[in-house]
Amino acid sequence: MIKYFDKLLLSLSEIENHPILLVHALSGCQLRCFHCLNRSELIEKYHDRYYTIHDVIDYAKKQSLLFDYIVFSGGEFLLSSLDDLISDLTILRQEVKKPVIVYTNGIAFEKVVELHQRGLVDGFHVDMKLPFHLLTSEDFDLAELTLGIPLRDMSIPQRILQTLEYIISVDQGLNRIRSVRYPFLGPEAFAENRLWVEAMNRQYGRHVPYDVHSFIYNTNEEVAPSFQLARHP
Ligand code: SF4
Repeated sequence: MIKYFDKLLLSLSEIENHPILLVHALSGCQLRCFHCLNRSELIEKYHDRYYTIHDVIDYAKKQSLLFDYIVFSGGEFLLSSLDDLISDLTILRQEVKKPVIVYTNGIAFEKVVELHQRGLVDGFHVDMKLPFHLLTSEDFDLAELTLGIPLRDMSIPQRILQTLEYIISVDQGLNRIRSVRYPFLGPEAFAENRLWVEAMNRQYGRHVPYDVHSFIYNTNEEVAPSFQLARHP
């Protein structure tokens, strides 16, 4: 069973021109991204009170005139088991006739494919935290600083890249790619991301938008050292 944060948010600012119902799953996260704002409240804290999908559906039905999309976030929503994800999203589909968007860090490539192919998710918003396509073994420190976990190899960045390419290849208008303007990344990192997204859009004949979001310091964490991509001295 997936546990959901018992505060559901109606937000006007997450997706331009579209009010959303934002639902946070209490599923944890594989990463510890630099200055993650959700860590203390949504990932590390134990919640003895939580919602189930039935509570989410009840609320969504009552407030359905106030939002365009239902957005699932986390932590990492896709860290839940595939069976639980299919079960919850299937019930939701039957009860609430609104497009479903999932915010994801992109690691769970197979779940993204499965949920897309089953028609249970209409849009994936995936973080492109670094120009993953340019990373070499010389960028290990940068990747570890950004993702916040020790990396044995580049398999996690490669999986995220696989997800990014997949959501471009199958986009039907609601997928999106975004970066955070981390203070240790120069503008060339975001320029490279944009070029990669544009190239993939051309390759697959799609128009997935790419946005760069402002970085917000989590004041409980340390300030970053300075890094550069190995291929951008
Ligand atoms: S993927 Fe998102 S929720 Fe997970 S640590 Fe990174 S910023 Fe936080």
